[in-house]
Amino acid sequence: MSGIRPTGFLHLGNYFGAVRNYVKLQSQFTCYFMVADLHSLTTHPDTRELKGHVHRVLAENIACGLDPEKVALFCQSHVPETTELYLYLNMLAYKGELEKTTTFKDKVRQQPENINAGLLTYPVLQAADILLHRASLVPVGKDQEQHLEMARTFANRFNHRYGEVFPEPQAFNFGEELVKVPSLDGTGKMSKSENQLATIYLADDDDLIRKKVMKAKTDAGPTAPNTPRPDYIVNIFQLMQLVGTAENLKFFEDAYDECRIRYGDMKKQLAEDMVHFITPIRQRAESIRTDHAYLKKVMDIGAEKARASARETMRLAREVMGLDYY
Ligand code: AMP
Repeated sequence: MSGIRPTGFLHLGNYFGAVRNYVKLQSQFTCYFMVADLHSLTTHPDTRELKGHVHRVLAENIACGLDPEKVALFCQSHVPETTELYLYLNMLAYKGELEKTTTFKDKVRQQPENINAGLLTYPVLQAADILLHRASLVPVGKDQEQHLEMARTFANRFNHRYGEVFPEPQAFNFGEELVKVPSLDGTGKMSKSENQLATIYLADDDDLIRKKVMKAKTDAGPTAPNTPRPDYIVNIFQLMQLVGTAENLKFFEDAYDECRIRYGDMKKQLAEDMVHFITPIRQRAESIRTDHAYLKKVMDIGAEKARASARETMRLAREVMGLDYY
């Protein structure tokens, strides 16, 4: 189970942190993937662009290889059981622990004029999404590690207080550490809303990709062999590792260690690797995104599958809670 907020265009961070794993998981497990539209209201209360973003997230997921016939691909708000479980879990979540969450503290800094209760209880809603399907594996990027720890805490508290209903969910990445895809300017991670010129979006055209990559921060290069790489150079190597070939990566690593690296050449190679990687996804996504009848069908079928699983979980949850008065 996992989700992506419809707050903008998907980028390479979403792909390597999340969607790539969704696609791998779909043939081995029963999967639930959603567009987290309720979560987006905590930071984006203006809903004028929401529909377009929801369509985009669905289309880009499918273009990356997610098969709506294999998985439940749905919208969070189409599964009202989510908000019921969110309410019960809210009674088990304490103000102190929610206030200490890193993402909450970040958002308080970013939007001091709108520190709403939904923002504070964001990890509770996320736990409800996951626990609603009694999911064990949650494919997410590294930024979600703390939220997953909280989901485990809420699951355990519920099980302990009322009775065993929920397995402990784990953050998941295929065979490796959780991924954080860095931004091109070396200041943070790729993101839907921040760092837009330093983020590569799946919808970027070839020239824009080249322009962004060529602007990536570099320096004059190392002057002594085997000099440790500064963060912004580590980032460029990491991006090449994600989208390029092992051969090219080794070529530039050796060139760096032997002080003969030409960052202009490396960035040109990285730009072409990214263009090669993104072009087919962008083209597929564009035709899916504009097919509204198809997207409606995907959402309807997805909601049906997700609600069947949600209803069964809520039946169990109400039963152990003693909310069954007949
Ligand atoms: P969001 O865009 O915040 O709704 O996140 C959707 C998914 O993408 C979550 O699983 C995040 O962990 C993942 N994600 C977002 N940005 C990055 C990034 N720069 N690197 C790795 N994963 C990311």
